[in-house]
Amino acid sequence: MSKYGVTLTPEHFAYIRARTTAEDEFLVALARAADAEGIPAISVTPEQGALLQILLRAGGAREVVEVGTLAGCSAIWMARALPALGRVRTIEIEPRHANFAESWIARSDVAGRIEVHRGDARDVLPGFADGSADLVFLDADKTGYAGYLEHAVRIVRRGGLVVVDNALAFGHLLDDEEQDESVVAVRRFNERLAGDARLQSVLVPLGDGMWVGVRR
Ligand code: SAH
Ligand code: MG
Repeated sequence: MSKYGVTLTPEHFAYIRARTTAEDEFLVALARAADAEGIPAISVTPEQGALLQILLRAGGAREVVEVGTLAGCSAIWMARALPALGRVRTIEIEPRHANFAESWIARSDVAGRIEVHRGDARDVLPGFADGSADLVFLDADKTGYAGYLEHAVRIVRRGGLVVVDNALAFGHLLDDEEQDESVVAVRRFNERLAGDARLQSVLVPLGDGMWVGVRR
């Protein structure tokens, strides 16, 4: 064990997966249908879904804002941890993704708790009121993260959470050869968030890495 704790291997992650809330049949079917339609398989992992649910339940959350719906997987995970009158407002720019997500959400157990807002998050986020969310989850285009963070900090209530996915940049974070603009954007964003005194944040190494920050 190093000063950083234990170095985790794929076997450890398999062990963790086997002991964490799994996807139910509905989410498995959703993932299969998304795959068949050529929607990329980049939804949150079950471990990330479970962590999001735990954070929402621990905080008694009612209102969530998500940037980047894709097929609706993370929105459904989160909506399931909200009370009956809770709500996830999720933003999606791609009509094909929004259509798929809406049709699956409508058939889900949390149909009444998720609103899909179509459009560019840059245009939709300004319409969400200050302090109107208990948790904001950023998971869209990485080059937009810096701008979305400013809205997240404004929209989340004090003591609420800002969660940001793909902090390990698709596995390329520390690979200096990789200069793809999304990877570069994640590196720059991570520096910014690490130095942001408005939040206390930690990068949780589940899935592709997820920042969890609390609004001071
Ligand atoms: N949160 C989802 C995965 C989201 S993938 C899950 O874990 O289940 C990222 C999504 O963000 C894609 O569907 C992409 O179309 C969308 N996106 C990209 N740029 C966007 C923008 N500017 N505004 C809103 N959505 C955007
Ligand atoms: Mg993601």
